[in-house]
Formats: sequence, C-alpha cells, structure tokens
Amino acid sequence: MAGCDYDLFVLGAGSGGVRAARMAAGLGARVGIAEERYLGGTCVNVGCIPKKLFVYGAHYREDFADARAYGWQTGPASFDWATLRDAKNREIERLNGVYRGLLERAGVDIFEARATLLDRHTVRLSDRTADSKPDRTLTARYLLVATGSWPQVPRFPGDDLVVTSNELFHLPRLPRRALILGGGYIAVEFAGIFAGLGVDTTLAYRGELPLRGFDEGIRRFVLEEMAAKNVRVRLRSPIEAVSRQDDALRCRFADGDTVAADLVLAATGRAPATAGLGLAEAGVATAPNGAVRVDDGYRTSASNVYAIGDVIDRVALTPVAIAEGMCVAYNLFAGEERRVCYENVPTAIFCQPNIGTVGPTEEAARQRCANLAVYESTFRPLKHTLTGRSERTLMKLLVDGDDDRVLAAHMCGPEAGEIVQGLGVAITAGATKADFDRTIGIHPTAAEEFVTMRETVR
Ligand code: NDP
Repeated sequence: MAGCDYDLFVLGAGSGGVRAARMAAGLGARVGIAEERYLGGTCVNVGCIPKKLFVYGAHYREDFADARAYGWQTGPASFDWATLRDAKNREIERLNGVYRGLLERAGVDIFEARATLLDRHTVRLSDRTADSKPDRTLTARYLLVATGSWPQVPRFPGDDLVVTSNELFHLPRLPRRALILGGGYIAVEFAGIFAGLGVDTTLAYRGELPLRGFDEGIRRFVLEEMAAKNVRVRLRSPIEAVSRQDDALRCRFADGDTVAADLVLAATGRAPATAGLGLAEAGVATAPNGAVRVDDGYRTSASNVYAIGDVIDRVALTPVAIAEGMCVAYNLFAGEERRVCYENVPTAIFCQPNIGTVGPTEEAARQRCANLAVYESTFRPLKHTLTGRSERTLMKLLVDGDDDRVLAAHMCGPEAGEIVQGLGVAITAGATKADFDRTIGIHPTAAEEFVTMRETVR
C-alpha cells in the first residue's frame, strides 16, 4: 500500500519486536516501532539480563567461602545491595542505548509512545514523556503486535502488599526475610538470588513439586539442592492473605500457618499484555487470557496484522520471540515461507545450581516411546572435592531404544545452561547415542559425562 506511512509498524520494542523491525528494515521495508516503557523490553530491563547479573552477584557468597579451601584468605565478606543494583542499572542503560543504536542504524523510526490500534492499518501514538506531544496517527501496510507479557498476581486479601519481578530490580534495600509465591522459573531463580545474597528465603508453592512441566527427576533433585542452600520450601501452600503487622508482612496460608516476611514476591506467572491495545477495533481475535490468536505464520484474524512473542502465549522465551520476529520479517519482505520449529527448544533456569534442558521430560518420552533408555548420572563436581560443599550435579540422557536417537538431555548443575546449548544442536541434528559415545570427552569437565554415560537400570 503505497499510501501508508510505513510498510511495517511494530508495537513493542522488546527482543522480538526489535529483531523483526531491524530485519524488515534490512530487507528494504519502511519500518516504525513504538515503545511506551523501555527499549529492549522485559528481557533487557526487568528479566533475563538483570536477573543473570543478580545470579552472578548471589554466587559470590559461596565463592568467598569455597576460596578458603584453595588457600585464599579473604577476610569477612560483606555485601552492599546498592552497589550491585546501581551497577546493574548502568549496564541496562548502556544496553538501552545499544538497542536504540541498532534500530537507528537499521533505519527504523522509533516512537517513545503508547501505540493503540484504531483499525487494522492505523495506529494512534500517545506520547508518555514529560513534554508530551499531542496524539498522532500513522498508517502501515502491516502491523506487528509484540507487546510481551506482564506479571499476574492472584487475588487475595492483601494482594496489593506484594511485589512482582518488575519491582525486584529496583528495590531500595534488600529485605531481611523474603517470601516467594510460585514455583516456576522466576520463583526458583529469585529464591536462589535472595538466598545467595543472604536473605532469609521461603518459597511457597501451591502444588506438590515446583517447576511443573520439567523432568520430574530434575525437579526432585533441585528441590533438595535448594534446601541445601538455605531456601525453605513450603509445598501444597496456597497463600490466603497477606497483612501488614508493625513493620513486617504477615502471610497466612490455606492450612492456617503463618510466615512473617519483609517482602512478598508474587512469581505467579505472566499474562499477555494486550489490554487497551485496540485489538478488537482492528479485528484481531484474542483467547480468553488475552493472548493474540495467530496461525503458523503469526498472522492474526486481521490478515495484515501479525503477532509474536509472549503476547501469543506459545513459548515465552526471548530466543523464541526473536526467531518468530525474524520469521515474520522474512516472510513478509523476502517472500520466504519460514516456520519456527518448537520441538526441542532448549531452556535454562538460573537457579542454584542451574537447570539446563532440551527435549521431552522422561514422563513425556515414555508416553511416545515404547523402548526408552534412560542414562543418568549424579556426582559431586570436582571443584567441591576440596571445598567439601555437598552440592551435586545430575545429568540425564533419554534415548529411543528402537532407533538409538537421543531425545533429551536434562541437567542440574553448575553451567548447565552453557552445557546444554551444544547438546541442543546435537539433538536437533538427530544425533544417536552411538554418536555421543564416539565423541571424545573434554577432560576433566562435567560436560564429558554426557558422552560417557551408561544405561541406568531401574
Ligand atoms: P511460570 O509460568 O514459569 O510459573 C508460574 C508459577 O506460579 C507456577 O508455579 C504456578 O503454579 C504458579 N501460579 C500460577 N497461578 C497461581 C495462583 N493463582 N496462585 C498460586 N500460584 C500460582 O511463570 P513465571 O512467572 O515464573 O515466569 C513467566 C515466564 O517467563 C516463564 O514461564 C518463562 O517462560 C519465562 N521466564 C524464562 C526465564 C528463563 O528463560 N530462564 C526466566 C524467567 C521467566 P502451577 O505450576 O501450579 O501452575
């Protein structure tokens, strides 16, 4: 549509939106992008990146203690939250600038404004800055909704007293006692961060075992490791109410038990950020939870409007949103018919120790594979033979006994995310257990265990 201001207008400058905008501009499209909050979205500002920096920060407590076994005398270690938080803030500001530079160099017009759809080709931009300019409207041939997700907090008396992951990254001070509600990625990651930073930490999960959807052996293992690292875990503990009592918060569970805390984190999932976007006006259909409905090519019910990332509620991971964004850009402006493969998406949870995983859980693999071979190994990392720390590592390989293909690799141990990424390539390429066996290990590493495993007899 020659009469439009843009070939593509992207709502939301998170990981997926920015990648789609840059790729589309690189393919010759005229592209605009609107962002109402921060360039880089959740991942850069209140998610993956600052979280990982906090994980590094939290691990120094153990490192200082372990160093003594290696002959280092370090004196009493102390921790200053403001130093870590502010150093993290400076790095995030730098990354915001990097994202701006990437978009500008690609020739993408950036609008720091809230975008609302007026119809399937028209966007209203409402400036949110102090010297806010009047609203303006723009038109585009294609629209891409990449507005991400937002933390969701269950309703209970006192729910206004809890914080979400958004606030954690800017806390004025570290709490003495933290209660974390939930048992997913964010709950276990922040349990590790808080405990590592010396906060008295309790994780309360409503179910039987945290990390639903992950391999059960890994879930049980990480539960033990968390307990060994001073995280108190309450299972089958739905929260009933939170109230203020003097300077603290009093949290009551369904069984009547109470816990006192100085901070309560609701890490209870995230919901697609679609409220007030004008999707109905544009003819874009959504699911009951607000997720934008899309087909295999991310096209919504309005044929020129696309959506990617957390807002479609498929796989809420940064690299997946990026892959989806590239797919849309290449399909629209390079005439390709790309599809994202959701099989064997590797992922890591940066709890202590980390979890890295690719492929189905043992339970799921048994459903689809009559002859499943399980290879499992538990050991104490070499480093801790001197420190005496009881931390252990668990590794699992799942193999289809009929054709010898490796279906999955699961690990809980230091650097699990780094190790499993490479295994993701092997599994995607269809490697067999025989391929793993003839691969020479790198000695001495934990990773070599993955090429020397013998079948576990159960
Ligand atoms: P998750 O979906 O991973 O976990 C949500 C947790 O909250 C579950 O344990 C769930 O319990 C519980 N929960 C949900 N609703 C309620 C409720 N009403 N009352 C009590 N508990 C409840 O969400 P997160 O918020 O941890 O993270 C959001 C997403 O962000 C993740 O799924 C992941 O895709 C992404 N992420 C990825 C990271 C990474 O790659 N390392 C890090 C952080 C986030 P139940 O199991 O019973 O449903």
